[in-house]
Amino acid sequence: MRLLIAEDEPELAEQLKDAMSDAGYAVDLAFDGEEALHLGQTEPYDAVILDLGLPVIDGIQVLERWRRAGRTMPVLVLTARDRWSDKVAGMDAGADDYVAKPFHMAELLARLRALIRRATGHASAELVCGPVRLDTRAAAVTVAGEPVRLTGHEFRVLTYLMHHKGRVISRTELTEHIYDQDFDRDSNTIEVFIGRLRKKLGADVIETVRGLGYRLVDPLEAK
Ligand code: CA
Repeated sequence: MRLLIAEDEPELAEQLKDAMSDAGYAVDLAFDGEEALHLGQTEPYDAVILDLGLPVIDGIQVLERWRRAGRTMPVLVLTARDRWSDKVAGMDAGADDYVAKPFHMAELLARLRALIRRATGHASAELVCGPVRLDTRAAAVTVAGEPVRLTGHEFRVLTYLMHHKGRVISRTELTEHIYDQDFDRDSNTIEVFIGRLRKKLGADVIETVRGLGYRLVDPLEAK
């Protein structure tokens, strides 16, 4: 899952990036509204954290322009404390949730997980596919109850597939959702990650759809 964080306070932006990266997300940063607007219009984010008080173009305008352009990714706005009018303006501009500054990182992470869950049609924080369970709260994966250790990239690939279980996902799509903007992308590495995931999770969980991509299938439902 890949996030855009638009925040102009450098220290807070870095803190957010660190916390989100630790939680398993690929993260792009934008430090002003113009950069945020551009990235949000051109890159396929799974969610956005948007500070409303941004230089050049303010957050409300950025959000309104995304929505007018048909961008539907979930957006969580960061508002100044006690500014109830900001929350109203944010929600009216198309935000899906808000957190007032200063906030607890754990709350922000929980709200973000809920947004991504809702956007992909999941009600529970635990994603299940046959014997594979992914607890999005702890970023933990088990197979038939046994914990499995995954690298950061393997975890991101699996998380994306789990959120989109049953849908064919192309290598390009996976690439766009597991790497941040600055990463030197190579879609061939996706094949490597898939191979390793199959070894760790069981060969029949990830199906190859020739020429199209990969699909996560519940081995029990497939039979
Ligand atoms: Ca600000």
